[in-house]
Amino acid sequence: MVGTVQKLTVLSGGMGGARFLEGLRHGVRAGTLPGVASDAEVTVVANTADDWWIHGLKVCPDLDTVMYTLGDGIDPERGWGRREETWSVKGELAAYGVEPTWFGLGDRDVATHLVRTQMLDAGYTLSEVTEALCQRWQPGVRLLPMTDDRVETHIAIADPDSPSGQRVVHFQEYWVRLRAQVTAETVAVVGLDRATPAPGVLEAITGADLVIVPPSNPVVSVGTILGVPGIRDALRSTPAPVVGISPIIGRRHVRGMAEQMLNAVGVEVSAAGVGTMYGARSAEGILDGWLVDESDAGDVATVTEAGIACAARPLLMADPETTAAMAADAMALVTTP
Ligand code: GDP
Ligand code: CA
Repeated sequence: MVGTVQKLTVLSGGMGGARFLEGLRHGVRAGTLPGVASDAEVTVVANTADDWWIHGLKVCPDLDTVMYTLGDGIDPERGWGRREETWSVKGELAAYGVEPTWFGLGDRDVATHLVRTQMLDAGYTLSEVTEALCQRWQPGVRLLPMTDDRVETHIAIADPDSPSGQRVVHFQEYWVRLRAQVTAETVAVVGLDRATPAPGVLEAITGADLVIVPPSNPVVSVGTILGVPGIRDALRSTPAPVVGISPIIGRRHVRGMAEQMLNAVGVEVSAAGVGTMYGARSAEGILDGWLVDESDAGDVATVTEAGIACAARPLLMADPETTAAMAADAMALVTTP
């Protein structure tokens, strides 16, 4: 990476990605990221495989988490949904006995899904809808869905009552109703192989000065983005360096269910496991650099041997300043001094 970075592209899931983006935006604006212009443009390619239709509404959890977080509308304790939320709609639906009762849509949040669903019904694409919603939230980044096509992650779990011994549930049922406490046997991303990248996605990768894979779920957030035909090739061919940050610290995820998902796809739950799963660009993979937590310094050699520049630094995203420092450490891995 030479010269001034003007264009940054980040592949993001929900909470981990949104927190990272908050820190990155902070670092860009404060001018604390070496080599990055303070007016650099950040493009976010967000996972949409968590999306689903519920009570007649199209809900896009990762897009909304990024939009609400960067637009200062997020509930900071929950990490999803709107701040100062109320739950009258949920209570009323339950009073009618409408299933599923385990998926809560807050009253404020419902407005977002109503706008989105009406626009989709009127023929707008998800990209267009996202742009319209961002007019209100002004996230300070360009937020793109990975695809405008319908893609939904499903998880196979054991079911002794079924002839096959398995039952398939939507990602949201696995996460929200089952709280990821049942073993995930396989992950199937319905529609992924036929999806096309949303307008601007490939250009955002091939035209970037730097691409970042933030600490997002490597299977059901980043993995699904990489699975959209064309995106992996764009990452492999972009002249920009690609650097990632481990979502696994000390062989555990920080929040969420990366452990369950990595187990389902047979990848070791470790910083090195995830880094080498993404792989080196010099060896059919997507990474030039991979940052691991200071407690995982023992993983550095494995990652380096795989052909990926690697260092160990603190990776807990405590506040935007700390996260910006983490982003700077990641960039330093792929910067030509
Ligand atoms: P989701 O869509 O809401 O699950 O969010 P993401 O996929 O973007 O991010 C979830 C991942 O972020 C999990 O695997 C966590 O381990 C990781 N994560 C959350 N907080 C932190 C943190 O402070 N540091 C690091 N390194 N990873 C984190
Ligand atoms: Ca998600």
